[in-house]
Amino acid sequence: MECERCHAMMLEEAFEDIGADSWSMKFHGWRCPVCGNVLDPVILENRSLFSRAMGAGARRRHNARAL
Ligand SMILES: [Zn+2]
Repeated sequence: MECERCHAMMLEEAFEDIGADSWSMKFHGWRCPVCGNVLDPVILENRSLFSRAMGAGARRRHNARAL
């Protein structure tokens, strides 16, 4: 997994999301050791739903970078 901000290699880590009433959920995500960017499965799922709605063509143009 490459960081989308700084393109460093991200580390897979276990996280614990602690909410009200001592509710908690453990999950695996990725953390960038360089800029601190965190990707979790919820973010990734939302992003894939969004890109499906946008269509593959739009996503390709959105991700395009000048060389
Ligand atoms: Zn980064």
